[in-house]
Formats: sequence, C-alpha cells, structure tokens
Amino acid sequence: MSPADYVDNYYVRSLAEDRHYPALNGTVETDVCVIGGGLAGINTALGLAERGKNVVLIESRRIGWGASGRNAGIVAKGYSAGEAGLARSQGLKDAQKLVSLTKNARKLIRKRIAEFNIDCGPVIDGVLTVSWRDKPEALRQYIAQANGNFDLGFEFWPRERVRSHCLTEKYFDGIFSPHDFQFNPLRYLRGLARVVAERGGKIFEGSAALKIQREGGSWVVHTAAGKVKAQHVVLCCAIYMEGLDRRLENAAFPVQTYMMATAPVDEHILKSAINTRHAIYDTRFCSDYYRVLPDNRVLWGGRVGLWAHPQDIAGAMLHDMLKVYPQLAGHVTPEVSWSGMMCYAPHKMPQIGQLEPGYWYNTGFGGHGLCPTTAGGEMIAAAIAGDDKTYQAFAPFGLSYAGGRAGRYVAQMVYWWWRARDFMEI
Ligand SMILES: Cc1cc2nc3c(=O)[nH]c(=O)nc-3n(C[C@H](O)[C@H](O)[C@H](O)COP(=O)(O)OP(=O)(O)OC[C@H]3O[C@@H](n4cnc5c(N)ncnc54)[C@H](O)[C@@H]3O)c2cc1C
Repeated sequence: MSPADYVDNYYVRSLAEDRHYPALNGTVETDVCVIGGGLAGINTALGLAERGKNVVLIESRRIGWGASGRNAGIVAKGYSAGEAGLARSQGLKDAQKLVSLTKNARKLIRKRIAEFNIDCGPVIDGVLTVSWRDKPEALRQYIAQANGNFDLGFEFWPRERVRSHCLTEKYFDGIFSPHDFQFNPLRYLRGLARVVAERGGKIFEGSAALKIQREGGSWVVHTAAGKVKAQHVVLCCAIYMEGLDRRLENAAFPVQTYMMATAPVDEHILKSAINTRHAIYDTRFCSDYYRVLPDNRVLWGGRVGLWAHPQDIAGAMLHDMLKVYPQLAGHVTPEVSWSGMMCYAPHKMPQIGQLEPGYWYNTGFGGHGLCPTTAGGEMIAAAIAGDDKTYQAFAPFGLSYAGGRAGRYVAQMVYWWWRARDFMEI
C-alpha cells in the first residue's frame, strides 16, 4: 500500500492498514488542542488522554507524514546534544536527570507496544556503534565515563567481534548498547494514534493550523474549514511551523537527511557483509546508520544537507554502502529512497516549555527523537493535567535565535568541514 498523501518510503509501503482521520469542519471545543501529528504531538495527545483530558489533535497532512514516519526506527536513549556535552554545559547532576528522562521513555515505548498491542515489530534489541578509527583506548575511556556517569550499560566490543558482525575492514572496535532497540516507527506512531482515538481524543488530518489567537480566556486555533477552542494549545510542528509562530520558527533550522531501502538481498550474500540484526551507527560526525529488515532488505541512511541535496539519493546511499561493503556490489538494488527534515535548535536539545499561559511548545528533537518526543509528551501532559514542573528542566536551553537563512548557510559549511575531516582521518 502506498497512500499518495505520504512521501513514498519503506514504512508507508509496509502499512497493514490505512485509517484516515477526517478533516476539521466547524468549531470544536476541548481542553487541549495539539498541533502536529508526529511523535511529539501524538505522545502529547496520548499523555493528556491518559490523564483524563479532552484533547483535539490537528495535523496538516497525515499522521507521521514528517520525520516521525521516515526515520531509521532506532530507539536510543539520550539527545542530539550527547551526554558528555550536556554534562559540560549543565553540570553532571542536571545532565543525569535529563538523560534519565529518555531512559524512562525508552521503557515506556516498550510498555506501550505491549500494552496497546501495536504491531510495529520485530523489536530487535541492541545498537552497535562502530569506530572508524583505530583508537581502542579512547573508546574504552568513553564507555567507562558514560557508564559511570549515566549508567548506560555500554559494552566494549573488540574489533574481532565487531568484524564478525560487520564484515569490513573499515571498522575497528565498537560500543554495544544492549537496551536500545529498533522497530517500525510509522506503525508504532499510527498505533499510538489509534489509542488516542480509542480514549476519546479527536484527531483531524488534512487540517493545517493557520492562525492561533487569544479570545477571552481561551486559545482559538483556526484551520481552513474550522476552529478549535481550547484552554491550552501545544505546538508540535517541528520544522514545518510556516508562519504559525515566529518565535519558534526563528529558533530552529532544518537539516535534511537521507535513507534508502534495498530490494531483498540473498541471505548468504548479505551475511558475507552485514552479518547482524543489530542496528549500526558509526562514530564519524557524518555517520552512516543502517539495519537489516526482516525480509533481508537493508535500510541505509546517512549524510545531511541544509540547502544542498544529492540529486540521486539512492545512488548516494548505495555509494556509501559499497564504500563499507564492496562485496555487496552487484547484489543490492535500491528500491525506494527518501529524505526527511529534522528540526534542530542551535543547542541541539529539544525545545519544551510554555511561552504564555496555556501556550506550550514541544519541538526541536533533531536526529534523536524517538525517546525524547516520548519524554516531551509526558512532561507537557503532566504539566497541563497536574501542574507538574519537570518540563522546566529544559528551560536553560531556551529559544535562542538560529540565525535565519544565514544560519543555515553557516551550518552547511560546518557540515562540509566535518565531512572533509571525516574523509581525511579515514
Ligand atoms: C531520515 C531520518 C532518520 C532518523 N532516524 C532516527 C532514529 O533512528 N532514531 C531517532 O530517535 N530519531 C531519528 N530521527 C529523528 C526523529 O524522526 C525526529 O526527531 C522526530 O520524528 C521528530 O518528531 P516531531 O513530531 O517533532 O516532528 P515531525 O515528525 O516532523 O512532525 C511534525 C508534524 O507537524 C505537522 N505540522 C506542522 N505544522 C503544522 C500546522 N501548522 N498544522 C498542523 N500540523 C502541522 C507536520 O505535518 C508533521 O506531521 C530521524 C529523522 C530522519 C528525518
């Protein structure tokens, strides 16, 4: 099934159902209006519905149309900013609190899959980060520090073990994270949406929020054919804010990244290269990330672009794959490729907070969103439903100016510089 209103990708093709939600027509009154039907919005709506709030969620296109339905499906604790960076900028205690929010979120994702019977498997444990550099001592030190400070359960894998899983001389030693896992993110997200609807939440697709206004004691969110009147509004629009709120729009920049799924590969040939079902990252700044799908397809992602774009995404991904696994040449055929837009703040941390009374935001998850959007949804829901203040842990990061168009050019230059460094060092 390939519903035309999603961007074509592996996950869309893998859908077992294609439930549509109606477009908003007329006026609806509710406790909370959530804007955006990605992981941030759906997690927020679910958290609110579970806490007994009436919730309406409006989505411009389809549930999971954005990054949430196009990502690599690797569920890993932590944030784009990284634990070590957080410890430096926030102090160890606060960094530990922030990281533990995502560890709890990872557990909650597993619980929700089981409790709500969401068919998003196979859920495969273990993520292996492989090093492009012959620096085992640096890796050991990093692991000791990360485990000591954040109790992450990382294991050091010597190169022989890494190379028995990944048959390439490009990789040296590795870091194995046994509690991280992989799944089908679009099926997961659509499963959560189903639960929101079962709990009385109202979901509208094809309903872009065009304007938000204060009217008396309420917030009113206007769409082309209707409006939602609510006590609270939560913006979960990621990089697609498009004039809805300049304060949030100016505080983030878009970063595209790319993915490809191959046609099924002969199992014997596949195992002569990628002899593992664990998800793989590498330690370069511009990392490849990939995993083998249940039917022996390879899902391969990598590179980023701010305004530059590879003309041929499938060709670029195949090139990167063959650089690591030349033995696959002639045996893999790209079947579908796509790009996705991530929403980054300059500090690389999520932006979670309240701009005005009853006017919330839950955004800026960058390339590391599966656990943090779950945590963000829970925090905002707990704040609205129960006056919980956990979300204030994100106040130090704030909504700093992302530099507008100039900021994007600078970021592209930085990316090219790091890519050149990766290239020179390997
Ligand atoms: C290729 C790729 C690979 C990735 N891999 C991983 C990974 O393996 N693990 C991981 O943790 N993270 C990964 N990420 C990052 C992760 O996908 C994101 O951080 C996460 O999905 C962000 O969720 P979101 O809800 O904030 O944004 P989105 O999923 O982009 O959702 C925003 C939604 O808001 C809607 N919207 C916007 N404006 C309006 C409006 N005015 N009215 C109504 N609706 C609106 C949009 O249509 C969209 O559906 C990856 C991202 C990409 C692109």
